Amino acid sequence: MTPTGDRPDGPADPVAVPVPDHVVLARRFGTPAYVYDLDEVARSLRELRSSLPTGTRVYYSLKANPLPALVAALVTAGCHTEITSSGELDVALAAGADPAHCLYTGPGKTTDALGHCLDRGVRFFSVESGTDLRRLDTVAAGRGVAVDCLVRVNGAAAGGSGLRMTGTASQFGVDLADVPALLETAARCRAVTVRGAHFFPITNAATEDALVAELCGSIRTAAWLRERGLPLEVLDIGGGFAAPYARPGPPAGYPKLADALTAELDERVAGWRDGDPRLAVETGRYLVGTSGTLLTTVLDVKESHGRRFAVLDAGINHLGGLSGLRRLLPTSAQPVQAVAKEADDVGVDLAGPLCTPLDMLGHGLALPGISPGDVLAIPNVGAYGLSASLLGFLSHPVPTEVVVAGGRVVSASRIELRREHVPVVD
Ligand SMILES: *Cc1c(COP(=O)(O)O)cnc(C)c1O
Repeated sequence: MTPTGDRPDGPADPVAVPVPDHVVLARRFGTPAYVYDLDEVARSLRELRSSLPTGTRVYYSLKANPLPALVAALVTAGCHTEITSSGELDVALAAGADPAHCLYTGPGKTTDALGHCLDRGVRFFSVESGTDLRRLDTVAAGRGVAVDCLVRVNGAAAGGSGLRMTGTASQFGVDLADVPALLETAARCRAVTVRGAHFFPITNAATEDALVAELCGSIRTAAWLRERGLPLEVLDIGGGFAAPYARPGPPAGYPKLADALTAELDERVAGWRDGDPRLAVETGRYLVGTSGTLLTTVLDVKESHGRRFAVLDAGINHLGGLSGLRRLLPTSAQPVQAVAKEADDVGVDLAGPLCTPLDMLGHGLALPGISPGDVLAIPNVGAYGLSASLLGFLSHPVPTEVVVAGGRVVSASRIELRREHVPVVD
């Protein structure tokens, strides 16, 4: 085993190279620690923009990672923000986002959250149902403000060239057949105007072809709905852009996407080149996924019934709380400093420190000679890492989040979970 970043046995793996040296960061900030590289975020954004038709609006989905420094970097680079709670709005605004450039999405928006956002200048919402639309209208009209909305469409599944009329059952969006009724509701609204369609049919598409099929399918659906009365000033085709999670590798490349979307848009919504409709996409994972690495220290190594377990100082409280959704496996971890070199073919299972057998971060990893005190790096956990995990479970300290840019540390911070007393009224 050689130190990370010096691996004669395989192709150069940029995400495995410590930037700056993970050994130094682990010593300086302790573990567990998340390290995010803003240069990698900028690279991902450039790559995404080059894969899309010129002028496409890019929304950063804060759900993937609401760390203020990451949000600020993306806002500064010209991303708009896609938010799903008042907390995400507050982060976006603190990061310098223009509330007029925030899109509020998601099912189950509360009156309080809508009011919070309206009071801070948000005027653009995705509506998921008639109830969602009426609630937004009531709250906006009560404040005397006019707002715009997109209708989130539960579109037909992609495939073939024809439009299939049946999507799958979902809590998201409005079924195609129900869009006309929603437009009737919208016509009676006092404060809300429908401006277009919002799609988000898949996430983390397995292949470029699958992504192209979904996004082109959404364009066809939108054009079909426009012929049936849906206004289409904005066409948000969502995303599905893929990035590796907790294993090495670069974000997916999309060499064919821009041409495929351009051809579909030219055919279905010819005015798009003049901004009618204006094209938008949303992604969290693609922009920040490869920017983050989790550094964790091995606390114990033990054998049990022929298997080897390494117990780490990070578990599902810090990474992979979404693993129940099968987003985690397979995991990869690499030592950030040289460890013993003896040949050893026993795979190592990585366990977290929590008192539940579910606290596993990986199985059967090749980590020969692993021993207590070693620091491991789990790559590509910039999206759906810390904030998507079980932070409160077992009350361990929350990892420090270290942000680097240009090879230098630019910030370090830690989320604090704190109990606040609420007045008790009899
Ligand atoms: C989760 C979500 C996203 C971001 O998904 P990624 O896989 O991170 O790109 C974008 N839009 C909506 C509506 C979402 O629910």
